[in-house]
Amino acid sequence: MSEEFGKYGLPLEVKFCKKCTMSNQRPSSSVEFKNVKGEKKRPLSFDEHGVCDACNFAEKKKLIDWVEREKQFRDLCDRFRRHDGRYDVVVPGSGGKDSVMAAHLLKYKYGMNPILVTWPPAIYTGIGRFNFDRWLESGFANYTYNQNRRVHRILTQQAFLNLCHPFQPFILGQKNLAPKMSALLDIPLVIFGENEAEYGNAIADNEKPTRDPKYYSAEARLDELYLGGVNARELMERYQFTTADLEAYLPIDPNKLQQVGTEVHYLGYYLRWHPQETYYFSVENTGFMPNWHRTEGSYSKYSSLDDKIDWLHYYTAHVKFGLGRATYDSAQEIRNGDITRDEGIALIRRYDGEYPRQYLDDCLRYMDITAEQFHQVIEEARTPHLWRMVGEEWQLRYPIWETTQNGRP
Ligand SMILES: [Zn+2]
Repeated sequence: MSEEFGKYGLPLEVKFCKKCTMSNQRPSSSVEFKNVKGEKKRPLSFDEHGVCDACNFAEKKKLIDWVEREKQFRDLCDRFRRHDGRYDVVVPGSGGKDSVMAAHLLKYKYGMNPILVTWPPAIYTGIGRFNFDRWLESGFANYTYNQNRRVHRILTQQAFLNLCHPFQPFILGQKNLAPKMSALLDIPLVIFGENEAEYGNAIADNEKPTRDPKYYSAEARLDELYLGGVNARELMERYQFTTADLEAYLPIDPNKLQQVGTEVHYLGYYLRWHPQETYYFSVENTGFMPNWHRTEGSYSKYSSLDDKIDWLHYYTAHVKFGLGRATYDSAQEIRNGDITRDEGIALIRRYDGEYPRQYLDDCLRYMDITAEQFHQVIEEARTPHLWRMVGEEWQLRYPIWETTQNGRP
């Protein structure tokens, strides 16, 4: 087995999906509070025809009876709807197009009473903050959990230094916050916009409407929990953190969820979810604004805009897995029929892995690390079976634009 798998547990033989632009190097969502250095990822699976799970799921979605699904959704709403003036559904988000549309539909189409909860970005972009304000102005109240800035900074720093994964503290908090607020506010229904599994987790994760509790709940045994790749107890000793300091990043006790009867659902399971349409919907209904320039590393202007760390996050994915933001964006747009595979490949060739110049200094200042440390972490994270040095420059060994039709280099 050891000859077949390289760094991060990725297959040494690089294959690209025949239908989209994703490769077999794409890892699935991790259970982040168990993520340690050297963790083996579960890569995207391909079928015997060389087509990825995400594309197969996109095909399956075409056969879904959406009228029936919407009926199920109305039943779900009726099951949790309150008539006593209290909120009846928690909608997590920070004002991106998906959460905007989810909240809007729930309130104005399905007659629910949503309360928004936000785990805010580490470093808001101007456009992110603008869209968050528009969201609330379209008629919603919101609880924002403002992180302990010292703790969040140190965790982000450690996650970058140890795992080359600066977004981890954000992901942890974001997945945990809504179920926790559900328990705290006694509102059992939580609805996320779309299912991240659509981007390539096991197909089985898409077949049900609810999020697997393994991502956000566990008995809190500090010895077994890791944040930024460091054991929680060790972090507490090193930085004099109390358990309360780390509470926001720790999974919720399943017993508390059981008491309230918390259920975490995806709207994307019940309603046909198309990113471009979601974007147009948000523009029309809340005054959502795209960025005024192209996102570095891609060609898009309206996805994942709120957090300056996001740019660094995609850059690290390119270094670790050879997959940058243009790959993620194009794979999704190909599946949705917005662009062709050839167009996607051209966009990747042009933009993927672009150096995150715009916000890099802000990120380094935030994490309190030097440019030298940054480069050291990046070089250590680089995956040898994906990269080679040509002259003074790192180049991908198997770029998608040099692959043949069957997806093999
Ligand atoms: Zn595919």
